[in-house]
Amino acid sequence: MSIYYFDNSATTKVKKEVIDEMIPYFSEEYGNPSSIYSLGRNSKKAIEKARKQLADLIGCKKNEIYFVGSGTEADNMAIKGIAYKNQYKGKHIITSKIEHLAVLESCKFLEKQGFEITYLNVDKNGFIDLNELRNSIREDTILISIMFANNEIGTIEPIEDIAETAKSKNIIFHTDAVQAVGNVKIDVKKMNIDMLSISSHKIYGPKGVGALYISENIEIEKFLNGGHQEKNIRASTENVPGIVGFGKAAEMVNSDLDNHIRKLKELKNYYVENIITTIPDTKINGAVNARLPGNSNISFKNINSSDLLLELDNSGICASGGSACNSKEPTPSHVLNAIGVESEWINGAIRVTFGDFNTKEEVDYLIKNIAESVKKLRNQ
Ligand SMILES: *Cc1c(COP(=O)(O)O)cnc(C)c1O
Repeated sequence: MSIYYFDNSATTKVKKEVIDEMIPYFSEEYGNPSSIYSLGRNSKKAIEKARKQLADLIGCKKNEIYFVGSGTEADNMAIKGIAYKNQYKGKHIITSKIEHLAVLESCKFLEKQGFEITYLNVDKNGFIDLNELRNSIREDTILISIMFANNEIGTIEPIEDIAETAKSKNIIFHTDAVQAVGNVKIDVKKMNIDMLSISSHKIYGPKGVGALYISENIEIEKFLNGGHQEKNIRASTENVPGIVGFGKAAEMVNSDLDNHIRKLKELKNYYVENIITTIPDTKINGAVNARLPGNSNISFKNINSSDLLLELDNSGICASGGSACNSKEPTPSHVLNAIGVESEWINGAIRVTFGDFNTKEEVDYLIKNIAESVKKLRNQ
């Protein structure tokens, strides 16, 4: 059976060009980048090329990109790294209620160690309130970490205003941009962003590699002890093939960003309009305009999302109910809860996220199958 993949926020298919770039670094170019001989220096050069490709994608300097093992690790490293480095200045951190678990759980971990965390509310579209942010800032606030765009409902936060607020109070601003990178134009310098997390497998690169941008005037405490890789911030022999693939993926999304955004928006709008006009009792979750181009999240009243997802799976369709990390848990998504989705709608939310490989024909197939499955489930 063919696969119809509409879960591009969970992960993306690696592009062929990316795989082609990676292959030599599994075979003949296997040197350790820390070694002095040319085989090692070739690996080192490949990493530095990838670092430039990442820097160009978000508008920072090459030496401000640190390669890590995942988006999760980048978030952990940013939050814990700043907390431990600055704990003598203060122990208060501000984040939001709709962050990815990589951020929320890092904050909860710090809470157990005596840090205080403010979790900002969001409105019904998923936006934080800038006044609440301003009022939450204290003398001892050392970090503001607010995601660039939400992985479940696609809402893009007012990042420049948040960054401006942080800067005016001399507080470091980190953003989890794992969903935004490759889907939104980002310039960390113009936007006053101090730290930003990226993940390779969300932008058509390999899994198990990520990056943290750290503005060069900021110091963090490292939490892996060992060798002096990544300027002594992240010990571990580098994942050379992964980093090379990540770099290529970054270069590819950067070179085609406007087209990519236009294409995803078209597919998404086509899908959403069809679903909400042809299927009764449906409701869009999340923002209308400030939204990731390929993200849709629609609730089907009186439907259990896992029943619908299993029906769709029988037709080869991959989609998600809430976030991938929560998909096996019966508890409703913390994001849908935070935006106040009512109980009759919250269990029937389906996230469909479009990507570069999707076609309009696939979307027609998706619409047809959702319509049939919803009808069937409602008649049971
Ligand atoms: C996927 C994701 C992460 C985690 O990235 P991994 O590389 O899978 O660990 C973090 N934040 C957001 C918003 C994500 O969507």
